[in-house]
Amino acid sequence: MKIAVLPGDGIGPEIVAQAVKVLKALNLNLEMTEAPIGGAGYEAAGDPLPDATLQLAKDADAVLLGAVGDWKYDKLERHLRPERGLLRIRKELNLFANLRPALLYPELAGASTLKPEVVSGLDIMIVRELTGDIYFGQPRGISTLENGEREGVNTMRYSESEIRRIGRVAFEIAMKRNKKICSVDKANVLEATELWRQVMIELSAEYPEVELTHMYVDNAAMQLIRAPKQFDVMVTGNIFGDILSDEASMLTGSIGMLPSASLDANNKGMYEPSHGSAPDIAGKNIANPLATILSAAMMLRYTFNDEANALKIENAVKKALAQGYRTADIATEGCKQVGCSEMGDAVVASL
Ligand code: NAD
Repeated sequence: MKIAVLPGDGIGPEIVAQAVKVLKALNLNLEMTEAPIGGAGYEAAGDPLPDATLQLAKDADAVLLGAVGDWKYDKLERHLRPERGLLRIRKELNLFANLRPALLYPELAGASTLKPEVVSGLDIMIVRELTGDIYFGQPRGISTLENGEREGVNTMRYSESEIRRIGRVAFEIAMKRNKKICSVDKANVLEATELWRQVMIELSAEYPEVELTHMYVDNAAMQLIRAPKQFDVMVTGNIFGDILSDEASMLTGSIGMLPSASLDANNKGMYEPSHGSAPDIAGKNIANPLATILSAAMMLRYTFNDEANALKIENAVKKALAQGYRTADIATEGCKQVGCSEMGDAVVASL
């Protein structure tokens, strides 16, 4: 089993090192090879997605990624910025389905900014389309109009087949969970998402056991805070999913807890924490590595079909939390506050 390990920037190398440590502790037959991406790719090869990195990722069965980005690259031309490397690798590997679970560990109910009774027992799976929508639609750009004023343009675009394939992923996941999907759109205003709703309804005919509901994105943003436990699987487009999944992450206490998987049509996947490179805390050994460790568990589950070892990792994380280990972002009174690498050690010890 070949894994391309791409630590990236900021806290990326620190958190990925912990996930690698946990994977190694399982003694599986894994071949892990590291390569630079994002700002690290730019530094190494003048490109946020160097050719060698892309090739390694293409040849691998799965990719384990840290995060990319640092404010020091904000002045680079857009195509050289770290985030472009991430968008490109998702596109190149055709990773159209992004799975973001928002699961509240009982031990962390107090770390959420919401009341424990609102969030305890929370278990949402957000399925976000990842390679279409306004992030990729053409035309795009900033141009100067005839009157000399500048204009910025992006285009929200979804084809029927793009909607259907992400819808199918969501329905299949719903079949394995509680058979409930909420599709999020803005069909009252945006035609691209009016089509989204139509296709979801058509697809639901193939899954009569699944209860499909629809919600406008503005209401979904509100309901996630008001009564998040009403949701099980949520499926939505790229930009809405980007925003809602970050919102959902805070229900669980910290974005540092949330893993993600991005899959292609054959379950080859890229696994990464839902958060960014957190340059504000990089290099201090205080980042929370659990989202990355849990991403490695998702890798075993979705790409390598190894449910047993995925559960082993998830249970080890639960045990470390139950023993009171906390990084700074989830620290509560009386906990054992530890650094990034110590949290990795605690998970390995629990394994
Ligand atoms: P961010 O997610 O990096 O950080 C937001 C806040 O959460 C910060 O206060 C940070 O310290 C904290 N945080 C994030 N991960 C944490 C962890 N594991 N443990 C503890 N605290 C954590 O988002 P941002 O600050 O908006 O962006 C920083 C950089 O990351 C930017 O360059 C941005 O483009 C990039 N970014 C990358 C990705 C990605 O690689 N997938 C995603 C989002 C943002």
